[in-house]
Amino acid sequence: MVSLSGIGVCAGVAAGPLLRIADVPALPPMVAVTDAEAEVARASSALAEVVTFLERRADRATDETVAEVLRAEAMMAGDEALLDGVREHVEEGADAVHAVSLAFGAFRESFEAAGGYLAERVADLDDLRNRAVAVLLGQPMPGIPQPGHPFVLAAKDLAPADTADLDPAQVLALVTEVGGPTSHTAILARALGLPAVVSCPGVLAIAEGTLVLVDGATGRVDAGIDQVAAEAAVRGAAEVAAAAAALTGPGQTSDGYGVKLLANVGSAKNVPAADEVHAEGVGLFRTELLFLDRTREPGLDEQVEAYREVFSAMAGRRVVIRTLDAGADKPLPFLNQEGEPNPALGVRGLRIARQRPDVLTTQLAAIAEARAQTGADVWVMAPMVSTITEAATFAAAVHEAGLPRAGVMIEVPAAALRARDLLGVVDFLSIGTNDLSQYTFAADRMCGALADLLDPWQPALLQLIGICGEAGRAAGKPVGVCGEAAADAALAPILVGLGVTSLSMSPRALPAVRAALAGVTEADCRRLAELAVAAPDAATARKAAIG
Ligand code: PEP
Ligand code: MG
Repeated sequence: MVSLSGIGVCAGVAAGPLLRIADVPALPPMVAVTDAEAEVARASSALAEVVTFLERRADRATDETVAEVLRAEAMMAGDEALLDGVREHVEEGADAVHAVSLAFGAFRESFEAAGGYLAERVADLDDLRNRAVAVLLGQPMPGIPQPGHPFVLAAKDLAPADTADLDPAQVLALVTEVGGPTSHTAILARALGLPAVVSCPGVLAIAEGTLVLVDGATGRVDAGIDQVAAEAAVRGAAEVAAAAAALTGPGQTSDGYGVKLLANVGSAKNVPAADEVHAEGVGLFRTELLFLDRTREPGLDEQVEAYREVFSAMAGRRVVIRTLDAGADKPLPFLNQEGEPNPALGVRGLRIARQRPDVLTTQLAAIAEARAQTGADVWVMAPMVSTITEAATFAAAVHEAGLPRAGVMIEVPAAALRARDLLGVVDFLSIGTNDLSQYTFAADRMCGALADLLDPWQPALLQLIGICGEAGRAAGKPVGVCGEAAADAALAPILVGLGVTSLSMSPRALPAVRAALAGVTEADCRRLAELAVAAPDAATARKAAIG
């Protein structure tokens, strides 16, 4: 048996024979072009066929996230600029197949150069190119194998069009060689509820048909495992998941120590999923996700409406709303930010208010108005805060807007180190472990090759969380975690032991976290936290805490 490890991005355990996604069409030698217009027309009709194909799939998709992603891909394939690129290459002598491939190549380069969110869309572009080339060559479009029995799907990376075809009764789990926690594979796996592991080197070397066991929580993939052992692991995991789903009620340890279990949302569309798992509120409302494609700043009324939708859907429950976290991997076009050599270390999050205080003022006014209209329990926090001065200025702006509770995210080590002082000027802290890992370990959060450094069990990360938790205990103020670490059920008791008072996560992860807390006492949490922080590395911390 061979064990591989990657980043688990959707919890769940599944076993089955591994099959790879069909090969992409190889480019044939270039042929001489005699009729440029005819070549452009051929390319144009192939792209149109891809657009139609994707739109049909979007219409058939039962999951709205999948449908949206497919429509976005169809728009990319139908982009006029792409056809202009094709035309230019044909005029320079390329045939339709090569012109299409070159035009996509140019788009790809600019997406990669932009980095972050756009760089993760590169797999979409490759998928579109492969489909268009296949159409032009008269070959079937590459896609998911259809063996007629359930299987584990392996691929270099998955494109949205592939995942739309996934039948969860046939595809048991996803494993990709590349891709980060925010790649489409990860997003769509979560939407479909399929166990998934990304950034798993070696998976494509496993022979087709080999029995593999995939653990989407730990990121482990066992290839060549014995059938009986695999079945036992899947059965055990299913029993744990069923028991977890049956538990309801507020989050608490077995001795009644309360820990609020909250949901991360990007819009009102995510609220039903949060309700389904009895989330006690929203711990992170990522407002920038509403405006990622905007070239003009959203007006006050539009913002009021978007926030009101979430506030009223969460009636009576806490909603922690984050002011725009623009920049780096989430550039907002309307802010017209200048290019920066290193955007993750640049003007992002609250730092944008240095240049555009008006954007923050409008947003706070919109939040205040939406709160007034709904009477919701609204807490407001800022991303990417580094100093006490920034926190105090932000808190003053929040209060001036008539909003009662101001907090800051802890995403920068400097902020974690000064948590006590921060709690002197704000009402709560919320730890963004995705960025806190990135900045603590100087490891790009999108970089699959550095996944070990981004492991939330890293003792140095836990130590910083502990500083915040201690500060919260001393001040009697809430300290939450809203990064991906909050979705790791095994880690939940450790975070609570470190002083964390709420955990906010994608809704699917919530039942397992609730069950994990119900199985320990508060004293257990403190003891496990001490063991984990004292460990020399992430693997030992995990082992010390969960055996
Ligand atoms: C984080 O950094 O952990 C976080 C929750 O914020 P985002 O992932 O949106 O940057
Ligand atoms: Mg962040």
